[in-house]
Amino acid sequence: MDARCVRDALRRWGLAGIALISISGLTGASHRTTNFVVEAPSPDIAKKVADHAELCRSTIARQWLGHELPAWNAPCPIKVKINGGEAGGVTSFGFNRGKVSDQDMAVEGRLDRILASALPHEVTHTIFAAYFGGPMPRWADEGASLLSEDLRERQRHDQIVIDLLNRRGNFPLARLFRMEEYPSDLMGFYGQGYSISRFLIEMGGRPRFLKFVKDGLHSGWDLATRNHYGLSDVRELDRAWHSWHKVASHGQPKSDLVLVRAQSGAELEE
Ligand SMILES: [Zn+2]
Repeated sequence: MDARCVRDALRRWGLAGIALISISGLTGASHRTTNFVVEAPSPDIAKKVADHAELCRSTIARQWLGHELPAWNAPCPIKVKINGGEAGGVTSFGFNRGKVSDQDMAVEGRLDRILASALPHEVTHTIFAAYFGGPMPRWADEGASLLSEDLRERQRHDQIVIDLLNRRGNFPLARLFRMEEYPSDLMGFYGQGYSISRFLIEMGGRPRFLKFVKDGLHSGWDLATRNHYGLSDVRELDRAWHSWHKVASHGQPKSDLVLVRAQSGAELEE
């Protein structure tokens, strides 16, 4: 199972996840920028992560909101643990009266993977938290944060969703949109959330996607689907996503599952 997903899922339990990571991530250097204060094993790493977090914060906010966020009242702490593995991260939030009251981030893995993948992903969560002022639906929070990761991670999730659909393990959208807990198939959940986010953004752009998610959460997903995408309801959106996926995944390398089926002569996905 993908380590990033498992650690990211710890966002749900907030402090428990942070505590586990910070015990092993006690560090020797700190670097402060306007919006982040980073603890890392060396001054050089602390500065690199803090500077990159600032760059991600301004770039990603402009992508999603059309403008940068004002400086936070308090810097977001980031604990960095360097090891030889793929990068992972966890960010927990507190909310008070429709605003973020506190936030806390931890990332670990190889430094190059942290900078390319985990850090942009976690910073995207902070942009969404500021926009929503409360918890964002899980599928959208994780799916759309994956869009900030590098091509390698995005392609990996493209493949995950191909496998998911080939084994018919995807959730009906009406169910996915209402899921408040992470399911046991975390990778499939991330992959489907990522693919649907990509589809909606290709149809209408990022600001519309955020408005759709906000309206869906408060006014219902059928109405939000009609208002923002001109489709009659979530079932029609689900069908549109499947059709789009068949075209979007054309040319992707075939999954191991499909190859095994082809070799055994079993019927392939239509
Ligand atoms: Zn995440």
